[in-house]
Amino acid sequence: MTGVERRRTELAVRLQAVRERIAAACAAVGRDPAAVTLVAVTKTWPVQDVRLLAELGVRDLGESRDQEAAPKARACADLDLRWHFVGQLQRNKAPSVAGYAAVVHSVDRPQLVAALSRAIALGVARRGGSLTCLVQVRLDPGVGRGGAPPEAVPDLADRLAGAEGLVLGGVMGVAPLGGDPAAAFRRLAEVAERVRERHPQARILSAGMSADLEAALAAGATHVRVGTALLGNRPARR
Ligand SMILES: *Cc1c(COP(=O)(O)O)cnc(C)c1O
Repeated sequence: MTGVERRRTELAVRLQAVRERIAAACAAVGRDPAAVTLVAVTKTWPVQDVRLLAELGVRDLGESRDQEAAPKARACADLDLRWHFVGQLQRNKAPSVAGYAAVVHSVDRPQLVAALSRAIALGVARRGGSLTCLVQVRLDPGVGRGGAPPEAVPDLADRLAGAEGLVLGGVMGVAPLGGDPAAAFRRLAEVAERVRERHPQARILSAGMSADLEAALAAGATHVRVGTALLGNRPARR
């Protein structure tokens, strides 16, 4: 077996295991696993892994840094992929991200809404023409890990819903390190519910990573963002 074949086999086995975890977690709470989108977070992993995952049927890929995501998306432009930007986003990166992303999960301040909307107005949108945006909710009592405090979410949601070229998709959250993910995701689900009262079409709840996707699915996650369980332990950042 060549190195590529070995990696394809490894990814196939890991993907199957993650799909089984999703199916079991959905079964436990009476949900349909077909309604869950698996976003494969490929940060730090090479283009070859993206291509192998695409061959295995993965369409949704996640990245957290524009410097890495932009060239990867370009290198895979021949594939029909949906790129999800899940990391903290600097305003000056908005035009680049809007050029390849289908979904930005990490909108946490008004300036980003404006910058993304302006980028779309300048015509940088990928095929499809609009950009789905999620409000990232801070589930950490302290700072860190990004996200807007829950009380700021309704205003951000209204701004996204009203911004030209942007579509309010819903909310995203990252469970606090060392906390109880189930409790954090229940809080997130309450915030999502409040957003949906005003914006019924904003149905995306992006929650759950390798370590806590079961708790997220129990709380109603529609999108899980999985890196390590699919691809292995990330090599250290250069
Ligand atoms: C890296 C990352 C993930 C994936 O995390 P794993 O623990 O490797 O599954 C999910 N969401 C965000 C925002 C990330 O930065």
